[in-house]
Amino acid sequence: MKRAIYPGTFDPITFGHIDIIKRASFIFDEVIVAVVKKPSKNTLFSYTERVSLVKKSIVGIRNVKIEGFSGLVVDFAKRKKIHVIVRGLRMISDFEYEFQMALTNRKLSPQIETIFLMPHPSYSYLSSRLVKEVVFLGGNLKGFLPSFCMDALRRKIKRGKKKKI
Ligand code: ADP
Repeated sequence: MKRAIYPGTFDPITFGHIDIIKRASFIFDEVIVAVVKKPSKNTLFSYTERVSLVKKSIVGIRNVKIEGFSGLVVDFAKRKKIHVIVRGLRMISDFEYEFQMALTNRKLSPQIETIFLMPHPSYSYLSSRLVKEVVFLGGNLKGFLPSFCMDALRRKIKRGKKKKI
């Protein structure tokens, strides 16, 4: 059985992530979407919220599971006995960071391979960070996130703004 891990922060999950999950699910018998519990960067959504949005987004994709993890991705992969890490590549701008990370992970664990999948071009400039910024500034984005993610994002940002007033 061919299995792969797709790790990320998913703060929140977008159609770009979902596109990569679907592509991976065609290639592998099982894909584990691994949600980082405590990323080094600050997140807008809590771990539980991020997992819940991923869970709703993958309804209907048969061979995909969600798990949380802390620490190194390669250690999580080893614990799960999985040898493939999937990452998404959007633009050249992703390349340098992803290349460094893939080679560092290879140094840590030579038996684990990282593969890169490219999303549909309509998602190739989409990032969770940009979506958060646009919604924070009151922009109306359609077609970037499932509607329940957009609703959760708007609620979260509204609450955050109220707290600061
Ligand atoms: P991380 O903090 O690990 O980068 P992200 O949730 O931001 O977590 O991203 C997880 C993976 O999904 C990364 O490989 C990232 O490049 C990829 N990704 C994010 N957005 C997109 C997108 N729009 N299209 C393709 N891949 C994406």
